[in-house]
Amino acid sequence: MSKRIVIIGAGESGVGSAILAQKNGADVFVSDFGEIKPKYKQKLDDNKISWEEKKHTNELILNADEIIKSPGIPEKVAIVKYAFEKGIPVISEIEYASRYSDAFKICITGSNGKTTTTMLIYHILKNAGLNVGLAGNVGQSWAQQVAEENYDYYVIELSSFQLDGMYNFRADIAILMNITPDHLDRYNGMQGYIDSKFRILQNQTKEDVFIYCADDEVTKTELKKREIIAKKLPFSLRENFIEGAYKENETIKIKYQSNELTMSINNLALKGQHNTYNSMAAGIASQVLKIRKDDIRESLSNFQGVEHRLEHVLKVHGIEFVNDSKATNVNSTWYALESVANDLIWIVGGTDKGNDYSILVELVKKKVKAIICLGKDNKKIHKAFGEFVETIVDVESASEAVKTAYYLARKGDSVLLSPACASFDLFDNYEDRGNQFKRAVREL
Ligand code: ADP
Repeated sequence: MSKRIVIIGAGESGVGSAILAQKNGADVFVSDFGEIKPKYKQKLDDNKISWEEKKHTNELILNADEIIKSPGIPEKVAIVKYAFEKGIPVISEIEYASRYSDAFKICITGSNGKTTTTMLIYHILKNAGLNVGLAGNVGQSWAQQVAEENYDYYVIELSSFQLDGMYNFRADIAILMNITPDHLDRYNGMQGYIDSKFRILQNQTKEDVFIYCADDEVTKTELKKREIIAKKLPFSLRENFIEGAYKENETIKIKYQSNELTMSINNLALKGQHNTYNSMAAGIASQVLKIRKDDIRESLSNFQGVEHRLEHVLKVHGIEFVNDSKATNVNSTWYALESVANDLIWIVGGTDKGNDYSILVELVKKKVKAIICLGKDNKKIHKAFGEFVETIVDVESASEAVKTAYYLARKGDSVLLSPACASFDLFDNYEDRGNQFKRAVREL
């Protein structure tokens, strides 16, 4: 009898998993407690995969041999709890797809910088002519690509939620950008979140590579406690290494085996300290893959950046508007504030995930002229910055935020949307927030 695979959550990753499972001859069923988007219903129907929406029918789910859970669904929801109680293995799309792929896998995790670094590595490898696919949290489902494509390499962005459902997966190159508090509402405190991130190293052998930020305190502490089998390649803006990446004067050096690549920081397409880290991590991975140095340099200098990440929108009457809607935690906003010029109107707020704003105070004192709170509940922001910033205004829409910012700004100022919070109180998601912001700027 064929294996019964049930997929919970019919988004990009769930539908991709269903397609791969169907191709492998499994008895497949997809269940989503919400409404399934029309394009995904269509895909499921086209592939003759049975599904349900707006409910979870226990009898159709708890008879599974294995369940593939979408990373967006917390482990504490009832149906997942029942599955655990019944001893049904619950895995992620990435774990499932990895069983059917022998491609070389470059995997990126961390609290911030995942998407940027993933896209940057993909850009370098593609420009160098490698047969490479992009997967994980970005772009198309990996499982679907494993079912339908034939790439030799995959660059895969892994969130901690995806890592939680991974057991036998092995990354050829694992990259950990940094670890700062995030999603603590879904983990039992910080250590749970750290452990989840470190799952990216599980099953690695000494043939594999682990690239990490040597300036990141949490990573450093954790490395002292753990035995790392893979070859370690650190990157840093403060220390030098025999192998790895570091900064010397205004250049970055990337060393691997007998190869050394040097590049001026001015020539990097992505600006700001955080992006230097991202470029370093991408540069090391590319060196390990033996991409020609000229190709790496060229790609690091002509990368176009990723939408909603410190994205330049428009200059209106000498006022620069920057969309950093993807900054959904305090740490990423710290880097945004650090990398933009002084005289800033800062738009912040949304769904707070347990933020501690104190690390932003110094930068805010130095750079921020006015704060616009874009959230339903802005008390914490007022409390954190009220005594340092004279003007703090509450708004409830992106267009109101933009109009208010424009009114408060003078020529030469910048307006930065870098919310440090999730977007779900007022928007569908961070893309919606960023798009509404950009639209409002263009309508000024
Ligand atoms: P992720 O995919 O991990 O959420 P992104 O590349 O989408 O990361 O960037 C998210 C936000 O974090 C952006 O607003 C960006 O300005 C900031 N950021 C990017 N890279 C880093 C980094 N290495 N360290 C800290 N913040 C970063």
